[in-house]
Amino acid sequence: MKNSKPKKSEFAYERKNFWKDAPPAEQKAAMDYAVGYKEFLNQAKTEREVTAWMEKLLKKHKFVDMHSKAGAGKVYSIFRGKTMAVAILGTEPLNKGFNMVAAHIDSPRIDLKQNPLYEDSNTKMACMRTHYYGGIKKYQWVSTPLSLHGVIIKQDGSVLNISIGEKDNEPVFIIPDLLPHLAAKEQYAKNLGEAIDASKLNLVFSGMVDPSGEEKEAAKAFALKALNKAYGIKEADFLSAELQLVPAVKSRDSGIDGSMIAGYGQDDRVCAYTGLTALLANQGQKPQRSMIVYLSDKEEVGSMGATGAQSIFVQDFVADLMAYKGEDNSSANLRKAFINSHILSADVCAAMNPNYPNVHERENAVLLNYGIGVSKFTGSRGKSGCNDADAEFSAQVLKIFTESGVFWQTGELGKVDEGGGGTIAYILANLGAQVIDCGVGLMGMHSLYELSSKADIYSTYKGYKAFLANS
Ligand code: MN
Ligand code: MN
Repeated sequence: MKNSKPKKSEFAYERKNFWKDAPPAEQKAAMDYAVGYKEFLNQAKTEREVTAWMEKLLKKHKFVDMHSKAGAGKVYSIFRGKTMAVAILGTEPLNKGFNMVAAHIDSPRIDLKQNPLYEDSNTKMACMRTHYYGGIKKYQWVSTPLSLHGVIIKQDGSVLNISIGEKDNEPVFIIPDLLPHLAAKEQYAKNLGEAIDASKLNLVFSGMVDPSGEEKEAAKAFALKALNKAYGIKEADFLSAELQLVPAVKSRDSGIDGSMIAGYGQDDRVCAYTGLTALLANQGQKPQRSMIVYLSDKEEVGSMGATGAQSIFVQDFVADLMAYKGEDNSSANLRKAFINSHILSADVCAAMNPNYPNVHERENAVLLNYGIGVSKFTGSRGKSGCNDADAEFSAQVLKIFTESGVFWQTGELGKVDEGGGGTIAYILANLGAQVIDCGVGLMGMHSLYELSSKADIYSTYKGYKAFLANS
């Protein structure tokens, strides 16, 4: 009997590992691409910081604010500092449809409450009350360095941008966890989701007091005095402020091979960055269909409000684009524009974690290093709440990826009935557009250090680029 290895059927599908099958030049390109991405992660940790960072980059590439100048072919619009859209205008009228990559730029974090500062009567220290934003696992956020970002609108109307804790010489903030010695009843006896109550997420802000002072709450008084000296603010200025705590850590290479990136907020800034740089890489062309990158806010809390994807902003942007190009932007024509459009809902997917393979079904799960992850649907239970991309559009997108040499794979959020979640896909699909989810697979999504592969980040960039130009 011959001892031959069984061969895989030539008709079978198998996803490809980027590090095994990509040419060396592509692998190098993937490693190089990650350098700029890490910088971005470190410099733009909130939605406001992302729009400011993107605007700077767009100006460098000669994009113009649509509302400031007529006749440009590369335009953008930023709305309330928290959401934006960018376009390279095509030759075809917009009511024939556009190609869009849509990501979100908010990430789970911990906000300060509106009246945050208090003196803790037991410890006589100044503390800050918080309110978490998005789906965090609370235990991850204690005893870890946090930086404070946001804006304070002072009583004279001036805007104060705050960023404390990112530079090495700046202090960081800590929400102290309970020592294990005394945690038996308070934490260990409870389940993981309840062990740390939201009311225990107060951070220690300061401890000094004025030795000559006679104020009742001396530590709080000292903190207020220090804040006034440094920023010219009073306690009442917090009431209207937006202040956010995010991990003070920098994104880093991860793995002995340096093939991964560990960093905060990769959901979904990785798709925002790959989407925008993909658009920039398509600048040389005068495309038929307009190419748009849309970056929304509030995805982590349901996409509501003026800056969330459910807002009128994205429709208003396209209507303004139509006017900008001299096209009829009546409501009917605007509807046609969306109905004829192709949209990638650019969001991260849950990559299989070696510690928890049981929550996935491997052949329908995204793996690190196998390229951009495409999800026909998200949702939970019986696909509840999902946008289910149609077969025609799914096939079209996969064909574009294949023909452009993009490494891709398909995957769903997790095993059926294991849990679930959603993206902004259904919101844009509600406007009649063809929409499919695709983006970078992450391990430890929503944690302080999400893990991604440079192979997938680069594949996603290439996938978005090909889609914008060829869909
Ligand atoms: Mn997301
Ligand atoms: Mn998320």
